[in-house]
Amino acid sequence: MKRVDIIVPCFNEGDVIELFFNKTNGIVSKIEGCRFEFIFVDDGSSDDTAVKLKKFSDMHDYVKYISFSRNFGKEAAMYAGLKNSTGDYCVILDSDLQHPPELIEDMLKKIDEGYDCCAANRATRKGDPFLRTFLTRRFYRFINKISEVNMPDGAGDFRMMSRKMVNAVVAMSEVQRFSKGIFSWVGFNTAWIDFENVERAAGNTKWSFWKLFMYALDGITAFSTAPLKLASILGSIISLSSFVYGIWVVFKTVFYGADVPGYASTIILILFIGGIIILSLGILGEYVAKIYMEVKRRPIYIIKDTNIEKYE
Ligand code: UDP
Ligand code: MG
Repeated sequence: MKRVDIIVPCFNEGDVIELFFNKTNGIVSKIEGCRFEFIFVDDGSSDDTAVKLKKFSDMHDYVKYISFSRNFGKEAAMYAGLKNSTGDYCVILDSDLQHPPELIEDMLKKIDEGYDCCAANRATRKGDPFLRTFLTRRFYRFINKISEVNMPDGAGDFRMMSRKMVNAVVAMSEVQRFSKGIFSWVGFNTAWIDFENVERAAGNTKWSFWKLFMYALDGITAFSTAPLKLASILGSIISLSSFVYGIWVVFKTVFYGADVPGYASTIILILFIGGIIILSLGILGEYVAKIYMEVKRRPIYIIKDTNIEKYE
């Protein structure tokens, strides 16, 4: 009998968590040949999410929960869930029913066929705000161009993984996590299944525009050093042109004498080169900041309360 862990990150999901649990539990309890266990990760919620999770775990021995000491973000919550899982397979589900639990059975079938991972691909972004859809599309096109890992647009965190793959993901203990990149980076055969976008069952999205934007920047710097190369390339182009221009200025001065006017060209060059230098420093700064945060080796999450006996 295979054991499957359902990992659910929750942040202020008091409005929807009961609905989620009843529906998902109802669906998975009908699947034969597998034993399901829930691992809820309460990501420092300030509402009654933790109380409700505790209630589920009192009622059912197959419900585990981990409560963080504060909000560490969805990445940290998923990591904690995967790290504390012991099942043969793990599936990560959002707690707002935007990831249809009906797909779990299809995912199991794919894994039985021999895949190490079965990921759900959101075929449409119907119902999402237009600007968010537009920018997300641009982001994926951009990041796929500049980084080695391939991250399909529409691929979320909703996926089932074999123990082998989960171990590989957990072994990547970087503090600044970008799971979509990590899932792709570790490799393994991945099967894809499409699903239609569904709206949140209740409550509100936990991602503000700003939070999402910062997440996108993190994704770029975590999986690509192309911006650094861009700085070097720009620097080389400018140095080369300055050299050619310098020769021309010397040549002109020697043969035609010096002329004092030239304020416009001087100021433009100074401003332009100054701008490029600051931009390059900024890009460099982004990576230095990443290194700084990474070398501190701070824990990715801190557990306040859990019913998992031997947790890590
Ligand atoms: N989430 C979390 N920590 C956070 C933000 C979100 O654990 O800091 C969880 C949230 O409870 C939900 C999932 O991540 O289960 C996806 O979040 P949400 O539905 O708000 O994002 P969206 O679907 O709008 O992208
Ligand atoms: Mg959602």
